[in-house]
Amino acid sequence: MTRLKRHIERHAVSRIGWLRAAVLGANDGIVSTGSLIVGIAASGAAKEQVLLAGVAALAAGAMSMAAGEYVSVSSQSDTEKADLARETRELAEQPELEREELAGIYERRGLDRRLALKVADQLMVSDALGAHARDELGISEISTARPLQAAFASAATFSIGAAAPLLSVLLAPSAMLAASVALTSLLCLAVLGGLGALAGGAKPARSIVRVTFWGAFAMALTAGVGLLFGTSI
Ligand SMILES: [Zn+2]
Repeated sequence: MTRLKRHIERHAVSRIGWLRAAVLGANDGIVSTGSLIVGIAASGAAKEQVLLAGVAALAAGAMSMAAGEYVSVSSQSDTEKADLARETRELAEQPELEREELAGIYERRGLDRRLALKVADQLMVSDALGAHARDELGISEISTARPLQAAFASAATFSIGAAAPLLSVLLAPSAMLAASVALTSLLCLAVLGGLGALAGGAKPARSIVRVTFWGAFAMALTAGVGLLFGTSI
């Protein structure tokens, strides 16, 4: 393995985009479905009711994730397209101004004026729009946003996460529903947090503590609400 290749592989940043989205989706599925189930189980509801509520929570959560992701990725992609269209127009109408603008950016990054103009000229000969997109607009890969794909992926990862507490409802004895769902959810959160940190090149311990703490907090809160309503109704 060459030194350069090793160096590139040490940087996990490029993998973090989709991985982070997948881990977040599964986390959401576990926390929201798990705490809803714990709350309903704590109110003293029967196993069938708990299961029904859990399935409804999975479906509702997955739809909400998909819709949210679709809207957010679409609007990001719209903004990028509009920016690129304006930049294309400006490059055609006032190339000299655009050359100055690009050179100015390189000067502020530390190049002297002559070198900055030279860099701007050479980059604009090979790919003017690409150079302006990267260095002026901060768009590194043109039009990579895919709203439908993003929506489907987050609905899928949410559902996978939500399946863990649901499975635990199916398998656990009725008397211990809330406790076993809470334990299963926390265990899955810890494993997921650890794997996510490892894959991203970070230390797993901190990530595991963080994710299980907030998961436990959410479930304790809904358990409290469930107990309160269970005794008052
Ligand atoms: Zn420009």
